[in-house]
Amino acid sequence: MPVIEVDKLFKEYKTKNGEKKVALNGVSFDVHEGEVFGLLGPNGAGKTTTIKILSTLLLPTRGSASVLGIDVIRNGEQVRSQINFVYGGEKGVYGRLTAFEYLSYFCVLYRIPRKQQKLLIDELITMVGLEHAEGQQIYTYSKGMIQRLHIARSLINDPKVIFLDEPTIGLDPVGSKMLRELIKSLSKKGITFILTTHYMSEADELCDRIVFLKNGSMSSIGTPKQIKEEC
Ligand code: ADP
Ligand code: ADP
Repeated sequence: MPVIEVDKLFKEYKTKNGEKKVALNGVSFDVHEGEVFGLLGPNGAGKTTTIKILSTLLLPTRGSASVLGIDVIRNGEQVRSQINFVYGGEKGVYGRLTAFEYLSYFCVLYRIPRKQQKLLIDELITMVGLEHAEGQQIYTYSKGMIQRLHIARSLINDPKVIFLDEPTIGLDPVGSKMLRELIKSLSKKGITFILTTHYMSEADELCDRIVFLKNGSMSSIGTPKQIKEEC
């Protein structure tokens, strides 16, 4: 059974001046366990709308979608306990905390028993390669370090699926490469990733399969190699 099933998703927004804007126009695809799956396309293509619906932050106008066999529309709460997401940086708000303090805070939110917190945080910090900086305040971090910290945070609830919105945007080449390697290593452990990107080169290096979106419609789906041959 696929980890994610998307069937004829359709999303229409009402804009402020009362007009309607079709953001998704019948999008359907499946994602399999441990895949790194990319939503590729230009600005306004519907990438963010798609991952927001799948991660239960937004309801579609029509169509259906399930994550781990659970209906995202009817059982959002249940889906949420099994997934996590990283949507943009939040350096400002947490700048004064150390990485350790930041992760402790989320451990409390996720109700991790006190006695297990330190062990879990140490494990997560090691997993994302921030051992050298765990006691440093986050405002001293590079963008790549912050993004890896967000990934550590997203792992606290042991999710089966993680959603990432433009994960390497604004990162330098070294930071991007580290992040891609982290995502790939976590996917090998069975975590499924769905991410958005503007860049074919990023999708090519990172994704097992891609759907190419344009104006809310799918123009193609396949491996990066197949997509490049079609373009
Ligand atoms: P992408 O992530 O590919 O850039 P989005 O999913 O953010 O695309 O947006 C798809 C389309 O929906 C765009 O035309 C965008 O302007 C429109 N849109 C997104 N969010 C809203 C909203 N809250 N209200 C009105 N229109 C929106
Ligand atoms: P506020 O003081 O308004 O609550 P924050 O503590 O979130 O704001 O920090 C705001 C910004 O100031 C952060 O994004 C960070 O870049 C910077 N900052 C935070 N702490 C320090 C610090 N100790 N020294 C220098 N800059 C800091």
